[in-house]
Amino acid sequence: MSIVNPQTRTAKLYRYNLPMDSGVIVRDQRLLQREGYIVELTQGDNMAYGECAPLPGFSQESLDQVESELIEALQGWQHNGEWRDWNVMSPSVAFALSMAQCELDGLLPQQGEYRAAPLCSGDPDELIPIFETMSKDGRQKVAKVKVGLYEPIRDGMLVNLFLESIPDLQLRLDANRSWTLDKALKFAQYVSPEYRERITFLEEPCKTPELSRDFAQQTTINIAWDETVQQMDFNGFELSSLLGNYVEAVVIKPTLIGSIEHCLSLIDFAQKNGLQAVISSSIESTIGLTQLARLSAWKTPQQIPGLDTLQLFQAQLEITWPDSKLPVSMLAEQTLIKQFVD
Ligand SMILES: [Mg+2]
Repeated sequence: MSIVNPQTRTAKLYRYNLPMDSGVIVRDQRLLQREGYIVELTQGDNMAYGECAPLPGFSQESLDQVESELIEALQGWQHNGEWRDWNVMSPSVAFALSMAQCELDGLLPQQGEYRAAPLCSGDPDELIPIFETMSKDGRQKVAKVKVGLYEPIRDGMLVNLFLESIPDLQLRLDANRSWTLDKALKFAQYVSPEYRERITFLEEPCKTPELSRDFAQQTTINIAWDETVQQMDFNGFELSSLLGNYVEAVVIKPTLIGSIEHCLSLIDFAQKNGLQAVISSSIESTIGLTQLARLSAWKTPQQIPGLDTLQLFQAQLEITWPDSKLPVSMLAEQTLIKQFVD
């Protein structure tokens, strides 16, 4: 009989590959499969996962780069139980390892926030049954609409139609910095002023934060930061530059931002300054997505997170998402890249 030392540390690094629903386009690229890494940390009787999945078109780091960063970091941790400074790691690596450590330390509560703001494309009729269920559950009706892909006039008319036909609907809009100020104002022109306050926020309407602020001043439509937060340098960056009139929320995508410590400091800053903090996904598998749902329930309990991305996949990974009918691919079926043992 062997006696396990309670401090014995081992780790595994897997590379996963999951099929995506056909027609998933991310930043003009078709995403046929989602690739990433899962770290599995074991210490004594405790085990924890972390997901590192740089998002093509958004993350700066490549899969090759994160693989070597992960191997180096896991080797160090297995030897001495410590991580290097999160700030020197790529954001997706820092997120995966800090989240796994957080889970290993028992800090991340089990309870998750699995409600979603449904993503709607065109037809308000499609949404009626979804909203009926939301009403029955006593939930606020909140949906998300991507704008900026078509003519601003069409977007404006569509948003106006949604708000007109569903009187207690709140909308989150996302333009991903696609408009000039002129186009953004054209959009707003088609949204009746009396409906504008039911736009909870519009994420990054214009190409620069300054133009987005001008848009908000001129239209009284609240805005939210997403890309701006991703591009911030946390080493000494002044968070107060995020504040201002009509700035309503910050979107926090941990895979693109970095360590849990960074994410928590952003959430804390937002909450102290009256901004909403919305935890959002970067198309992680159900392993990472579930941890984001738990992070949201823990740290932003009053918010519906932006995690409506499982529908883009054809399979779940190891951990099941409540009510999902997608088949589950097991981690053991994925590629084991390396084991870290004494
Ligand atoms: Mg966004």
